[in-house]
Amino acid sequence: MTSFERLKAFAEQKLSQLEATGQRRSLVETARETGGRAARAGRDVISFCDNDYLSLSHDARVTQAAADAARLYGAGSGGSRLITGNHPLNAALEDRLARLKGTEGARVFGSGFLANLGTIPALVGKGDTIVMDELAHACMHGGARLSGAQVRLFRHNDVAEAARLVKDAAGQVLLLTETVFSMDGDVAPLSELGALAEATGAWLMTDDAHGLGVVKQDNPAQIQMGTLSKAVGGYGGYVCGPAPLMDLLTSRARSFVYTTGLPPPVLAAAIAALDVMEAEPERGAKASRHAALFCELLGLPAPSSVIVPIIIGPEAEAMRVSAALLERGYLVTAIRPPTVPAGTARLRVTFAAGHEEADVRAFAGALKEIMELACAVTL
Ligand code: PMP
Repeated sequence: MTSFERLKAFAEQKLSQLEATGQRRSLVETARETGGRAARAGRDVISFCDNDYLSLSHDARVTQAAADAARLYGAGSGGSRLITGNHPLNAALEDRLARLKGTEGARVFGSGFLANLGTIPALVGKGDTIVMDELAHACMHGGARLSGAQVRLFRHNDVAEAARLVKDAAGQVLLLTETVFSMDGDVAPLSELGALAEATGAWLMTDDAHGLGVVKQDNPAQIQMGTLSKAVGGYGGYVCGPAPLMDLLTSRARSFVYTTGLPPPVLAAAIAALDVMEAEPERGAKASRHAALFCELLGLPAPSSVIVPIIIGPEAEAMRVSAALLERGYLVTAIRPPTVPAGTARLRVTFAAGHEEADVRAFAGALKEIMELACAVTL
């Protein structure tokens, strides 16, 4: 066999292993439009599963800012931030984020994933300890692993267990959690974790990917990262914190140093979206009202965010409910292990400012009917 043939055989064998364990994933073409509408493999649907919580990705002020910046400054940044990729829009966006979060500074990264991969290893290393919530996002786990620090997981939101782990930890301790958990929609006990950090000399770092613009929390974390890809409606990641830490990231975060700066249209879109977010707080409130109405209609506990998990359990069942929803014009993809723990396959339902109340009512009715008719699991 040639090397090319062996490579193909290798990939095919890996794929059949994934197939056998239900872990093979495939792409479906999805063209998003305004108001939660989308064309999914050619079918017109309303999406109740994307992260564009404030529906800013299609806001005319945001798209206009991106178009203007593309014409004026180009489609790409031409290099890393340390070479030629540091367009002034970066500083404008960083000032904006620092002001929003009330921190001394901010650093913009290529994505939220890159922000976590680069920041965590810049803070701790071999001989240190990371104490993190077991449900923290894959990129926090990735950054933790890359750092070389010892990684200890505490049960989801269990501050007492976190405190025990911190007490036994070696070196500098970094506490990691999400503010709003991506797959469950619940919130972290930030004030308790902040107090734990203060009492023990640990640093607290939070991932606010799903909080910004929708869930207001007092956040005592010394390091606050997040993404521009969800409520901000665009792309990119950020870290906010003390000014010297921002300078340290400029020199030491490998996913900052060795990657291309964000394209000017992406930066301009984020600034415009933050303007709208701040000027129109009713957008977040509207999305939250939709989530509350949905939960009320289905008899679920009141939500803490705009993410409502419908835990179904068996993967095949979750896929079946998702397919039945699609038949009726609603897009809610099934989330399966390993993204969520084994046995907790779910529909991750999300709400956005662009949805109308009538959409939410009709969607809740459809889901209820499907769950009653076709699903062994009851709500
Ligand atoms: N953190 C959390 C909690 C997330 O849900 C995500 C995105 N799924 C990220 C980080 C990564 O952000 P980005 O999409 O900007 O890479």
